[in-house]
Amino acid sequence: MCFRPATVAPDKTCPACGETCKPELDACPKCGAELPKTSMPPMPGAPGAAGAPGMPKAPGAPGAPKPPSAPGTR
Ligand SMILES: [Zn+2]
Repeated sequence: MCFRPATVAPDKTCPACGETCKPELDACPKCGAELPKTSMPPMPGAPGAAGAPGMPKAPGAPGAPKPPSAPGTR
């Protein structure tokens, strides 16, 4: 089993003839025109990771017992 993330690159459209070309192509296979480079667009459905979700702060550091009153003061 191998998890493969879906890398769906949008098809390019030849600016010259309007042919739908594969995104990995640099030139149109039909007319040979240069295709515009496809820059990875930000995923529209993936909101930026907002770090740790709602991690409550520890309310004060427990386990710090009061120090015993200094002896000798009687
Ligand atoms: Zn073309």
